[in-house]
Amino acid sequence: MAIKYIDQADFKDKKVIARFDFNVPLSGAPLTIDDTTRIDLAIPTIRKILTGGAKKLVMMSHLGRPKAGKDKRFSLEPVASYLAERLHEEILLTESATDSAIKTMLGLSTNRIILLENLRFHPQEKANDPEFARTLASYADIYVNDAFGTCHRKHASTYGINTYFPQDAYGGMLLAREVTALAKVVERPQMPLVAILGGAKVQDKIKIIEKLLPIVSQLLIGGAMAYPFLKAQGYTVGKSLCDDGDVKLAKGILMDTTARKISLPTDHLVATSIHGDAVSITEKNIPDDMMGLDIGEVTVANYVNLISKAKTVLWNGPMGLFEKPCFAHGSMEIAKAMAHASDAFTLVGGGDSVSAVKRSGKGDLISHISTGGGASLEYIEDGELPGIQALKFGINE
Ligand code: AMP
Repeated sequence: MAIKYIDQADFKDKKVIARFDFNVPLSGAPLTIDDTTRIDLAIPTIRKILTGGAKKLVMMSHLGRPKAGKDKRFSLEPVASYLAERLHEEILLTESATDSAIKTMLGLSTNRIILLENLRFHPQEKANDPEFARTLASYADIYVNDAFGTCHRKHASTYGINTYFPQDAYGGMLLAREVTALAKVVERPQMPLVAILGGAKVQDKIKIIEKLLPIVSQLLIGGAMAYPFLKAQGYTVGKSLCDDGDVKLAKGILMDTTARKISLPTDHLVATSIHGDAVSITEKNIPDDMMGLDIGEVTVANYVNLISKAKTVLWNGPMGLFEKPCFAHGSMEIAKAMAHASDAFTLVGGGDSVSAVKRSGKGDLISHISTGGGASLEYIEDGELPGIQALKFGINE
């Protein structure tokens, strides 16, 4: 069964509850939003529901990782203010997601938009509690999920709630864009397909490596992920991040015939510690007193060349300790190479690679920047996500 998106929904005079990902970074006093991207990307779906004639729109999201109970630092108040400004409409922020006043708010003829306070103030959200899901569902006739970034989680607002909308659950416009983009990589990629994986842990990405190797033309590995592979091949990695368990996993991957598609760094930028000055090492071995912190110039040139020949490119995970400018070169060059691969479909997922792309100033030239790092990886691994599957079929648990 195919997912139903909101262009198939009739919102006229209906009450709609919609799950968004308003999990934005906040700082300062009073708290302000540092990056509004996630809210901005939800606007098209919000507008579509409102222009479709919905009587009420109840929006819900989590923000941060609060402990149970209300905590001002994780309030959705700044989100409510920002949305009111963007939409030119008043937004009623509830005391809590289960506040008894919500029933009254739903009866008011003056306000159309209600924002439930942070769902994670209730431990029942993460526990996928059926009673909590039922309460959320009781606010509306139609359910919309546009929170792609949380669809890999079986939470009440993304998963359990679907039970109560067997006919009236829809994917939002952002969800549609994410799923379409991922399908272009996983289901029907234009070849050659080049995947670039970086970041810190093989363990977290082992399943995606195994899933990608049979379908990619090349798998380029960088970041701290490269060292367990190099060590598994017998090279020295000095003080680089390199877990024995990861070396074992890397050995296993390298034994498979598909491992010929893996490219590893042939040179590095290293330092004596993460605070040290960058030194260039022109061979694979890293001296005992040094740690690898970025891919080297020759590796960059090799990876850029392979990306330039690709028709589909997927990138997840930085090529080094890119938070420090002296170790950001590899990640910046990958971002630029993807931006310049104008014939290719290019997809970036994962918080760190997304910020590397943004820092490179080339974000506009990437075909799709995913809002869900973890969700996009799980989608690639499993070809499905619980939140999306539940939208298609409802659930019976
Ligand atoms: P991940 O969440 O697995 O994508 O890892 C991202 C983190 O890995 C970022 O904070 C990077 O700074 C870090 N990272 C990438 N390469 C290295 C490296 N060579 N040494 C230490 N940290 C690294």
